[in-house]
Amino acid sequence: MPHTATTPDDLERARSKYRAERDKRLDSNRRELLDVSGRDEWVRDPFTSPVEREPCHDEVDVLVVGAGFGGLLAAAHLRKAGVRRIRLVDRAGDVGGVWYWNRYPGVMCDVESYVYLPMLEELGYVPRHRYAYGPEIRAYTRKLAERFDLYPLSLFHTGVTGMEWDEREGTWRVITDRGDDFRARHTVLAHGSFTSLKLPAIEGIETFRGKMFHTSRWDFEYTGGDTLSPLNKLGEKTVGVIGTGATAVQIVAPLAEAAQQLYVFQRTPSTVAPRNNRETDPEWAAALQPGWQLRRRDNFTTLTNGEGASEDLVQDGWTIFYNAMLRDDTGGRSPQELAEQRELIDLRHMEDVRARIDTIVQDESTAEALKPYYRYQCKRPCFHDEYLPAFNQPNVRLVDTNGQGVQRITEKGVVVGDEEYPLDCLVLATGFDQDSLYTDRIGFDIVGLGGRKLSQKWADGPETFHGVMTSGFPDLFLLPPNYTQGTAAVNFVHTLEETARHVAFLVGEFDRRGVVADVHEDAERAYVDSVVNGSGLALLGGGQFLRDCTPGRWNNEGDPDSRPSKNVNYPGTSTAYFTMLEQWRTAGDFTELGLTARPSSESGEEG
Ligand code: NAP
Repeated sequence: MPHTATTPDDLERARSKYRAERDKRLDSNRRELLDVSGRDEWVRDPFTSPVEREPCHDEVDVLVVGAGFGGLLAAAHLRKAGVRRIRLVDRAGDVGGVWYWNRYPGVMCDVESYVYLPMLEELGYVPRHRYAYGPEIRAYTRKLAERFDLYPLSLFHTGVTGMEWDEREGTWRVITDRGDDFRARHTVLAHGSFTSLKLPAIEGIETFRGKMFHTSRWDFEYTGGDTLSPLNKLGEKTVGVIGTGATAVQIVAPLAEAAQQLYVFQRTPSTVAPRNNRETDPEWAAALQPGWQLRRRDNFTTLTNGEGASEDLVQDGWTIFYNAMLRDDTGGRSPQELAEQRELIDLRHMEDVRARIDTIVQDESTAEALKPYYRYQCKRPCFHDEYLPAFNQPNVRLVDTNGQGVQRITEKGVVVGDEEYPLDCLVLATGFDQDSLYTDRIGFDIVGLGGRKLSQKWADGPETFHGVMTSGFPDLFLLPPNYTQGTAAVNFVHTLEETARHVAFLVGEFDRRGVVADVHEDAERAYVDSVVNGSGLALLGGGQFLRDCTPGRWNNEGDPDSRPSKNVNYPGTSTAYFTMLEQWRTAGDFTELGLTARPSSESGEEG
């Protein structure tokens, strides 16, 4: 695709346009959410029915809260470390996490399956497509659970409602909404980043009389079909979708194919680059040499971190752009020249993204409205081959809200400007809450040493040591979601696996030494300070980059400076973070931790 922007004038023009587009989206209402706590109609599991069971009153070695890839990987590595009694607990009806809940039509993973699905060689599995569809990923999570024998003690359709450290016993007492009251010597919190649905507090949203659901609770009873087959009950229905993020980009084409009429309500367009998915070539798969997956995964992470590599094994939209954009070879340029050069690379890329829309979308005003005007890294990029063509169908209409978003919903439908769009069904592709207080998002509080609650301790933002432990909460481990001082590689499962290995090491080591472990407060403070004072965005031009971005999740809806300063990731690359953890493990002196002899309990024999 040709691009034309080359001069400082082009940059200045783009900056001015981007600023104008940002400014019209700055709106404090963006952060107002509908409170769904205790609202079963929004969050209930539409996919599997809960099974009656007796409450548990036993003791396990490790409780893992959350059975997505994070929890599964933690459990898998704990198993490898010799831990016997592992219990996964999840509100979902099975393992899978986001891949359990997100079954919407067309759901797939944008990160190449060969690097995203963990432990492929160990499980002797090669994904069917380069970019895997949701059902295959969900099936794979079950495979992992079976491979590491995680089902026997696990509890599904079960929400932890409270956890309290029992100092005398040296165990966590855990209470659930199914009447369980059991003990765990160690607890791992693996909630992930997409636990809590984000439902915008749009005026009148609760008055809508048609069918309405969030994308992670898709109602196939109503729409017919399933993730990969046509939604055969929508033939006479008018459907609306609010949102045009990564999820909406995947559901629009299947809805367009099935519904009589589809309205897509847009606040900010996404960047949509080609997907070019394909089936796995059996000859390629057969020729893979031992060690291939970690090599490929690490190569992907190195390149998307901007750390450079002699070859690009994946060569897709992520590696090509990030390698060009972030690679830290100054070539004698001043920091300002380098920043400008990066901005130019970004602008050229965005021009390609915008030009591609003109080649696909026939109606000029629709094409114009679909064009994103912001720097590529302000929002999560999307990849899809059927999203843009869907807008050429006569039954599909983009309703652009000029950056304002849908502000009113009535009994009958959605109002934008002066027009009401009557709907039979409204799909909320509005994403997940990643900014509320951690304990609100996970849905329970944790009481640590001396009766101190995690909600109190983290009221001004998370305080952790390496993102995985928090002082005053012994033998509690976090698989850090975004902005809790861990890291966030583009391939988030890579982050999860490295952290899971670290946590399994810690549990194994504490058990071997027969100790309970807590972090010294001063060590934690030093880590948090080092993270907060580090600049994670140096390569992009610092905090100003976020201030200039169009509002969204990554810049706290346009107000990055009001996000608590501790709500950040580790400032270096994910590789640097993994290395730091590894070096700390290798040193093995644990001077930052207070280790006390474990009170003897019934689990002593496992040691
Ligand atoms: P999202 O990225 O948070 O997008 C939410 C969308 O809702 C945005 O377009 C937002 O507009 C829009 N919105 C919110 N309130 C609105 C209102 N009042 N009126 C109109 N529009 C409104 O959520 P998502 O698409 O569900 O994606 C969530 C995350 O899931 C992604 O970041 C990604 O990491 C992950 N995901 C991954 C994959 C994958 O392939 N691995 C696929 C799907 C999702 P603004 O942009 O203006 O805020």
